[in-house]
Amino acid sequence: MEQVSFKNNKKTLYLVSTPIGNLEDITYRAINTLNSVSIVFAEDTRTSSILFKHYNINTKMISYHEHEKYDKIDLVLNYLKNGEDVALISDAGTPGISDPGFELVLKVIEQGFNVVSIPGATASITALTSSGLLMQPHLFVGFLPRKTNEIKFELNKYINLKATLIIYESPFRVKNTLKLLHEVYGNRRVVLARELTKLFETITRTTLLESLDLEINTKGEYVILVEGYIEEEIKLSIEELYEKYDNEGYKEKVIFEKIAKDLNISKKDVYQKIKIDNK
Ligand code: SAM
Repeated sequence: MEQVSFKNNKKTLYLVSTPIGNLEDITYRAINTLNSVSIVFAEDTRTSSILFKHYNINTKMISYHEHEKYDKIDLVLNYLKNGEDVALISDAGTPGISDPGFELVLKVIEQGFNVVSIPGATASITALTSSGLLMQPHLFVGFLPRKTNEIKFELNKYINLKATLIIYESPFRVKNTLKLLHEVYGNRRVVLARELTKLFETITRTTLLESLDLEINTKGEYVILVEGYIEEEIKLSIEELYEKYDNEGYKEKVIFEKIAKDLNISKKDVYQKIKIDNK
């Protein structure tokens, strides 16, 4: 067991959260920490120089980019060993959250130094709290894999989880990800949180079925939130879909086929809900 009190004399790696868009979303403590440490390791020093300029922070920065994260660990440790406090920041939000930092935290703990988080913005929680989807429990998935079969494998792991899923996605992949989410989960509620805290912040609350027809603006950053598994949802969705396809003039046999495909369930289940349960 390890219990660490920060009244010790050991040097500290501070993980400092920075804004996810709006420069005002940073704490006093974060700015004070960035001013007081000897060195700031930044995912991209050019990106962070905008923040530093805005708050008149003059601390020296060294890059700590994803592709060089292993090489820079020793450098960070050298600063700590030489008696200097160090901060890590990423381009946006909380370092280590879908950003470099995890491996460094492990090493710094292993070497007996302090690791202290200075809390602040993170896109996942910002998106979740305004989504209107269940806040607890939730699962932060982060970025999905790239290949279709790997994405489906990952999504299938959570298929029966009664928790809101939070997914980070590149704007160019949102359309395809929504399609795969629909294929795996059927017609659940979904929320797209775009450009959070920025001028063109947009929250789209819809269903996976309807999301297939959305025009996706490929400018901007997205968080996708998907409603968790709800036993009741299948019944409701079948009824809603039945009404929709009936209004569109499909024959009953075709409606059953379409609903079964949309919700990834058998035609027998659709028949059971419509013809037997609802009598
Ligand atoms: N460390 C960051 C955090 O704490 O949220 C996440 C960094 S990750 C490399 C970048 C992804 O986070 C984007 O692709 C997007 O999914 C999400 N993201 C970051 N800022 C966002 C914003 N302002 N609006 C919507 N999504 C955002």
